[in-house]
Amino acid sequence: MTRRGSLAVVGIGPGSPEQLTPAARDALAGAEVVIGYAAYLALVAPLLDGKEQVAGSMTRETERARDAIARGRAGARVALVSSGDPGVYGMASLVLEMLRDEGWQRGEAPDVSVVPGVTALGSCAALAGAPLGHDFCAISLSDLLTPWEVIARRLEAAGAADFVVGLYNPASTRRRRPLAEAHAILSRHRAPSTPVAVVSDAYRPGERVVVTTLERLLDEEIGMTTTVIVGSSRTFAFEGLLVTPRGYAGKYGREGAGLAEERR
Ligand code: SAH
Repeated sequence: MTRRGSLAVVGIGPGSPEQLTPAARDALAGAEVVIGYAAYLALVAPLLDGKEQVAGSMTRETERARDAIARGRAGARVALVSSGDPGVYGMASLVLEMLRDEGWQRGEAPDVSVVPGVTALGSCAALAGAPLGHDFCAISLSDLLTPWEVIARRLEAAGAADFVVGLYNPASTRRRRPLAEAHAILSRHRAPSTPVAVVSDAYRPGERVVVTTLERLLDEEIGMTTTVIVGSSRTFAFEGLLVTPRGYAGKYGREGAGLAEERR
């Protein structure tokens, strides 16, 4: 009897096993083949005993997704691993795009599922206090897949609209310019004293959390595993923590009416 293969795109969270959800753990446990960037497979290595592992390099994402789909179509139970949440700058959209292009339909092999994980913005925010207490947005500074003009326009809009801004992919060893330009754009909309959190390797060995200001952001060490959170005009810092108050209505927001609804 042939069994229909499955493909779970699994978010493993920021790195440590404690930040992996039970559902993600189950998805890995149920897989015969686990595919992912080598550094991510290493983070979940203790859960992969006895499974076929297909590790790849950072730049081979398309290949990994294609391989995962092909094996799932052929009947294997496959887990494709993404760091953080697979739907946030991760493998999930790539897989679904490819399935669309292949004409895949629900009910056909593979059975596809997306298993959420704690995204970097969530984990990094937690380590830095509560910077996402009010409206925020995420912007990736990687201009490898997105034209810089698009990124610049979004930074400009987020700055003008006073969002807290989470910057994914802020810089690599070679790619430094986008961060300098993002800094210049946001500095036109925010005070130099605006609190900023620079979080590297959240929930991994070597974790670093720095609370600084927009003015001094570029003095920090920022790389491939750093997320930068720039406060809004309302964000304040105390005791090395960033806080964005939940409301505009004064102290602790509006007491009483409506609060329960807002808090969901
Ligand atoms: N799918 C991932 C994001 C992939 S994009 C997620 O949901 O988290 C890669 C970027 O994510 C990195 O450049 C960095 O900005 C951020 N990132 C991923 N893991 C991180 C970690 N442990 N600590 C800090 N930033 C991290």
